[in-house]
Amino acid sequence: MKIQLLSPAGEIHRNRTGIFKSSLRYAPLTLTTLAALVPRELNALVAVQDEGVGPLDLDADADLFGITAITGTAPRAYAIADELRARGKTVVLGGPHATLLPDEAAAHADAVVIGYAEHSWPQLLRDFAAGKLQPRYAMPTGRVLAGVPHARRDLLVQRKYATVNSIEATRGCPHRCDFCVVPTAWPNTYAHRPVAEVVAELATFQKRHAVFIDLSPMEDVTYAKALYRAMIPLRMRWIGLSTTRIAEDDELLRAAAQSGCKGLLIGFESISQATLDGTRKHFHAAGRYADVVKKLHDHGIGVQGCFVFGFDTDGPDVFEETVEFVDRARIDLPRYAVLTPFPGTGLFRRLEGEGRLLTRDWTYYDVEHVVFRPKQMTPDALQAGLEWSWRQSYRWRSIGRRFLGAPPSIWPLWISLNAGYRYYAAHLHEKTGNAEWIAPGEVGSTDAAWPSATTEPLDDVVAIR
Ligand code: SF4
Repeated sequence: MKIQLLSPAGEIHRNRTGIFKSSLRYAPLTLTTLAALVPRELNALVAVQDEGVGPLDLDADADLFGITAITGTAPRAYAIADELRARGKTVVLGGPHATLLPDEAAAHADAVVIGYAEHSWPQLLRDFAAGKLQPRYAMPTGRVLAGVPHARRDLLVQRKYATVNSIEATRGCPHRCDFCVVPTAWPNTYAHRPVAEVVAELATFQKRHAVFIDLSPMEDVTYAKALYRAMIPLRMRWIGLSTTRIAEDDELLRAAAQSGCKGLLIGFESISQATLDGTRKHFHAAGRYADVVKKLHDHGIGVQGCFVFGFDTDGPDVFEETVEFVDRARIDLPRYAVLTPFPGTGLFRRLEGEGRLLTRDWTYYDVEHVVFRPKQMTPDALQAGLEWSWRQSYRWRSIGRRFLGAPPSIWPLWISLNAGYRYYAAHLHEKTGNAEWIAPGEVGSTDAAWPSATTEPLDDVVAIR
């Protein structure tokens, strides 16, 4: 049996034509984990293709194609699936979007995998080999993820990524933020791999660094401490994600730092407590964000801070206030997104009920296009404010100000990542001008109250690929 696993990419992230450079790209785990889960007795040949680093080969001589898609890549995944099926190939669709909308995905596939695949994917392949493929597979993840095989990183074109050492220790998240796909697609899922298994996989990495893709690894404090303490002898450097909980527990923070943590992505989302409370992210205290960043810096840990614009509580001042806060708090690597109502979330239901969705073309649900009518500004003002914020935060002046807070131990990584996002910020507008409902003049004014005159031209940015 020959199996071809495909991951289509959106325009922003596509190889060559996209603006997300390889210095920012770690290898995704989905395809390599699926490849590792192929049952041995099938003697299958497996290939993986990530459109983020190379074109997809639809002419491959495979018996079965597996395609994974998030919402923003779903239309592209469907088009590819339709093309392959027209050629007589068997296609399986899975991933977050197929999990959110399995009926929609089923119209483009011979089988749909709903949810995590560590049990259903091997079963599906055995059924396919026996000529008994079922239209749907949904087998829940348990509380403990024991025995998950090591991802097949050997199948990747490794030089195309900043690192292929991505790894997962926990799955899911115990919180229920109103806008987030995670509690909708994987409700009541918060699972862990045994610490010894994670450490054993880390020990196989060729270089002593890793990227943990876990969404909320610190929410089970006991598990997180045990994992970090067990990692200390490996003498690794790693980056990952966290909520602000990391800064509330000194013992946890010390263990993370001693285990080699050098950077954490934190979804701050908003500097307004009213906004956080209104989206069920009340466990974050906006008033303590600057202290959180300072505390992490004091432990040699950099912060990638993610902010979202477009909440009903966001007025036109939100862009300038957020950008100013990011500089003042010395957030090492800011990232901005527009609020995006992913299907099935509470946010989607509310905006749909209020008649505020502007499109159901999922291609634009990539967190950089405005797809709904905001409450306190026009869609084009929100779009322009988003792009302004990106550019503003990646001016040399801003970068320099934020660099003053960066721990020296992360300077090389800091510079490389800021260069990557400076390029992204400078070119984002080239990828977002394709949605007619946010074209200035069609849906309202662009008279947002941010100082566009201070925007620094970024023409001097060079590609870093
Ligand atoms: S936004 Fe983060 S903390 Fe909230 S539910 Fe999603 S993954 Fe969990």
